[in-house]
Amino acid sequence: MRPLGTVLRRWRMRRILKRHPIPHCIWRSVTRRVSVLRGLDAVQMAHLRELTTWFLDQKSITGARGLEVTPSMRVAVAAQACLLILNLGVEYFDGWVEVILYPGAFRVNHAQTDAIGLVHNEASILSGESWLRGPVILSWDDVERDTYHFHAGHNVVLHEFAHKLDALNGVTNGMPPLRRGMSRGKWAEALSGAYETLCLQVAAGESAFIKPYAATSPAEFFAVLSEYFFTAPDILKNCCPSVHKQLTLFYQQAASR
Ligand SMILES: [Zn+2]
Repeated sequence: MRPLGTVLRRWRMRRILKRHPIPHCIWRSVTRRVSVLRGLDAVQMAHLRELTTWFLDQKSITGARGLEVTPSMRVAVAAQACLLILNLGVEYFDGWVEVILYPGAFRVNHAQTDAIGLVHNEASILSGESWLRGPVILSWDDVERDTYHFHAGHNVVLHEFAHKLDALNGVTNGMPPLRRGMSRGKWAEALSGAYETLCLQVAAGESAFIKPYAATSPAEFFAVLSEYFFTAPDILKNCCPSVHKQLTLFYQQAASR
């Protein structure tokens, strides 16, 4: 007998698919141009469409600073976000509901406390931001660039929603809740070893095996690794086979974009 939670989830999913289907013309016209979806077969695309339909029903995507969010923009964001959970399940996106789109890069002021307890207000210009238990905020300019033009190792949607997977256990530390059967020890060994190597390369001014921003923190490292896993898996596999293996076990996908 199936557990009641699974039965209820499937019933809810069927109801959403029936009541709020994505019009075929919009699904087709958007997804055929999304570079990161190119390696998916018909069965995977059908599953992705279900997840995207669920996402658009359960999460809100709103525009800021006067940005009008069209159905195509909503599908472009949701479909790429759902690529991360294609074989993980919708529960990996629990705990938050809101996505905010700015027309372009946006300025934020965050208070940072330094080593002696002084609080500094630091202004940054961002293309995306993911709040712990809060919204995902994205610059549409950057989403559009990464969605329709292939850049190995760059995809702001994958990056920010990977933070959501990481945050699911209450902290962002580069270790999302792993799948059953995976070893936390092997994950930590593979990722921390590669992270330390990257930090040394960046500190020495050497050319890094992935973009140096990944050396900011273990959380950023995981988010950037996820970008590479889906957009440039060969780079990751050649440079860090043990990390590539852990991400393959986690995402349960053999990305071939
Ligand atoms: Zn990040």
